[in-house]
Amino acid sequence: MRIAVVGTGYVGLVVGACFAETGNEVICVDRDANKVRKLNRGGIPIYEPGLEELVRRNRHERRLMFTTNLPDSVRRSQVVFIAVGTPTGEDGSADLKYVLGVAREIGRAMSGYTVVVDKSTVPAGTSELVSAVIRRETKHPFSVVSNPEFLKQGAAVEDFLKPDRVVIGANDERAANIMRDLYRPFTRTGAPIMVMDCASAELCKYAANAMLATRISFMNEIANVCELFGADADKVRQAIGADRRIGTAFLFPGIGYGGSCFPKDVQAIIKFSADRKYRFRVLEGVQAVNAAQKVRLLGKLDKALGKNLRGKTIAVWGLAFKPRTDDMREAPSVPLIQGLLERGAKVRAYDPEARNVAKGIFKKKISYARSAYDAVRDADALLVVTEWNEFREPDFKRVKRLMKTPVIFDGRNLYDPKQVRALGFKYSSMGRP
Ligand code: NAD
Repeated sequence: MRIAVVGTGYVGLVVGACFAETGNEVICVDRDANKVRKLNRGGIPIYEPGLEELVRRNRHERRLMFTTNLPDSVRRSQVVFIAVGTPTGEDGSADLKYVLGVAREIGRAMSGYTVVVDKSTVPAGTSELVSAVIRRETKHPFSVVSNPEFLKQGAAVEDFLKPDRVVIGANDERAANIMRDLYRPFTRTGAPIMVMDCASAELCKYAANAMLATRISFMNEIANVCELFGADADKVRQAIGADRRIGTAFLFPGIGYGGSCFPKDVQAIIKFSADRKYRFRVLEGVQAVNAAQKVRLLGKLDKALGKNLRGKTIAVWGLAFKPRTDDMREAPSVPLIQGLLERGAKVRAYDPEARNVAKGIFKKKISYARSAYDAVRDADALLVVTEWNEFREPDFKRVKRLMKTPVIFDGRNLYDPKQVRALGFKYSSMGRP
């Protein structure tokens, strides 16, 4: 099939490359000319495991192309995906200006029956808005489909190639069948393709993200309560996770969720529910808990080192909002580092992939180490912020030798408290005695 994907970000690039991998001819469109130039030269604008090879192979086979020319791409395609951002607007709602702007351009360009697929995360009812916008621009027949994306950054290619399920919101069989054909190669292991009405499909994505965010905030509160009683949140986590009704995923206490999706999607549900006079109390709580949790480590630091960190150097391991990505959108590292700077500390940070992204945020206000060990040199304390694999089993003796004082604040519970304390570290983590 000939496909266009508009928006070549974390989602669009993966979607485009994976559809090319199954033999489709895909053209990825982005208005960011630098991004397109880089992709056309064989570069890759983001870090995502497995993506570079996938893009290289499919470019080489001429099944994957990149352009800034939306009209041409739409004219030659049977299916056009909209995968542009839906950031939080000023009032907290999902801002649809990019989605509707692209819909208008698609409407103007289309030259025959086209399936327009909304891949971006959008509130219930958006497919109708997209339809109305396109209808104003064209006389050609078209179908609007909602196809929310459940991939997670850090494992995006794997998730797209082997989805747990595919959700398709379609109001007509013709479009539903085209979508089934497109996704069949990814669901051969039996993952269901769930076809439903557009509003339900649109809500699926928000409900999934809100549920995951709720589990995180819930477990963080359990960890905070554990601290009040000298209980061990890890033990509690394992015991409740063994219950099959609960399961083990997304129950790790830490320093809160970040990224481009959970914060904005939780905020968007609260807002679109409120617009219909419904107050989503659970999610209000989830959001408040997360905001507090993101800076909880600073409270621990204040208790241990005092609020004035002038003359102190604090090492930070991990900047990305989670491992295996370079994305720092809404990352807990950002308010944490800001808090450290406000307290007068010198910050030396290390992240395996997010160094350049961090430079765009903090400029010269912090220094950027070349390795985890380089970061802790002469540091008064170490903050573990992102659970990259390479931080899981460091050479603690070397870390201790390099640090000025052996103090670790572990925001991800990576280490065994007994073991690190036995090595002479002062150690504190989340919800563990
Ligand atoms: P992104 O910011 O990485 O990418 C969006 C891209 O769209 C950018 O490259 C931007 O230049 C481009 N763009 C914006 N307006 C355009 C226009 N008019 N014409 C052409 N290109 C345009 O965003 P993302 O993380 O890929 O997210 C996209 C959507 O997918 C969002 O709605 C998001 O909520 C959803 N989503 C994201 C993830 C994730 O893990 N990042 C997962 C599932 C769903």
